[in-house]
Amino acid sequence: MTLTAEPYKIKMVESIHLIPKEERARALLAAGYNPFLLKSEDVYIDLLTDSGTGAMSDRQWAAMMVGDESYAGSRSFFRIKEAVKDIFDYDYVIPTHQGRGAEQVLFPHLIHKKDQYVLGNMHFDTTMAHIELNGGIPINFVIEEAFDTQMEHPFKGNFDTERMEAFILNQGRDKIAFILVTATCNSAGGQPVSMANLRAVRQVADKYGLPLWIDAARYAENAWFIKSREQGYQNKTIKEIVREMFAMADGFTMSAKKDAIVNMGGLIGIRRDESTFQNASSTCVPFEGFITYGGMSGRDMEALAAGLYDGIDPDYLENRIGQVAYLGHQLRERGVPIQWPVGGHAVFVDAKKFLPHISPEQFPAQALVGELYLEGGIRAVEVGSLLLGRNPQTGKQRVADAEFMRLTIPRRVYTNRHMDVVVDALSAIWQRRENIRGLEFSYEPKVLRHFLCRLQPVER
Ligand SMILES: *Cc1c(COP(=O)(O)O)cnc(C)c1O
Repeated sequence: MTLTAEPYKIKMVESIHLIPKEERARALLAAGYNPFLLKSEDVYIDLLTDSGTGAMSDRQWAAMMVGDESYAGSRSFFRIKEAVKDIFDYDYVIPTHQGRGAEQVLFPHLIHKKDQYVLGNMHFDTTMAHIELNGGIPINFVIEEAFDTQMEHPFKGNFDTERMEAFILNQGRDKIAFILVTATCNSAGGQPVSMANLRAVRQVADKYGLPLWIDAARYAENAWFIKSREQGYQNKTIKEIVREMFAMADGFTMSAKKDAIVNMGGLIGIRRDESTFQNASSTCVPFEGFITYGGMSGRDMEALAAGLYDGIDPDYLENRIGQVAYLGHQLRERGVPIQWPVGGHAVFVDAKKFLPHISPEQFPAQALVGELYLEGGIRAVEVGSLLLGRNPQTGKQRVADAEFMRLTIPRRVYTNRHMDVVVDALSAIWQRRENIRGLEFSYEPKVLRHFLCRLQPVER
């Protein structure tokens, strides 16, 4: 026997429905070609995000029933604390309402002066925003290979440590606040960071006395890639790999809406440093809530604690990463250009190569998002120039390094049959790609425009 199936049986279902083509056309027009403005009921297969969209297990649902809603000292908080000690070997934990809550609480204590740099492989967008809100400057040092979608590389989330070290030397240590490793690297296509690279980053951190933190939303998927791709880790358990990864950091921020498979929640984990814990605790209270609930209800903390274990289950991870790879391989076989190798949580379609006749100023990936919805009722999301926005000084549209349409796969939600439908729809579009037109604004908000903007196809 060589085939394996989803490592679960389905106990509860939620109906989805494909509305007729004319209604999809009407819905897309009404949404101004913006997937964020579609009603979810008009969507058949929803690949907008993997954040908070996972299906909880029966263990998680059962745990919710024993949630302790005490204001202080909740038993459910201690469940999380024990899980974090067990899985990550960290002494301190602060719950937050989601990942950005963790960033808001922590970053004021890591950025000490205005215009200090935060060095990352590639910062996530809310992370960038919180660095900037605290006077810091986010800067990326991901390896160059990450931007070549056709190049084979097992760890495209890695840091270019030489370039980073040159930057530190050039700026001087005092201009650097801390190093933040995003694992997996969401913005580069869910690409993992290797253990060897993490170790090299730690060496740089030690050499210059810099704190090293992990943006840990996809801690388990990154560990799975290390197990399956890095020499010497094949026979280690996911937990052993997670512990080894996190032993190299001083702490983590985590959006638990990803690998911990809850609909809402986040964490700050601190390995040993009590003073950072005390500082963050004092900021947590006014912003998120008392330190033993930090913006979460007791039942949600129970689901999170159970989800941290669900996330590192090797059967689950093999199937999870396998499903994303399955989608990617099918698309690639049909000639659709994608970021290669396939990442952990999403397939990134290279819209620059898919629609070479559409300029970045006319948002090729967003045009493709619209087509995919029309074709199959499938909702994807643009990660390209529309997301990037304008240069705040000149007002000119910035051109992204890559124009991606992200097909983000929620955890334990869809079967491979749904993936087949996505492949079918996108293959049909690939056949008629020359006829697709670019988009222009009919309404452009000043900040975070991709959420609320409205677009229309350009005239021929
Ligand atoms: C989702 C995410 C965040 C922010 O988390 P929220 O829970 O959405 O606030 C931060 N970093 C990374 C890498 C993420 O994927």
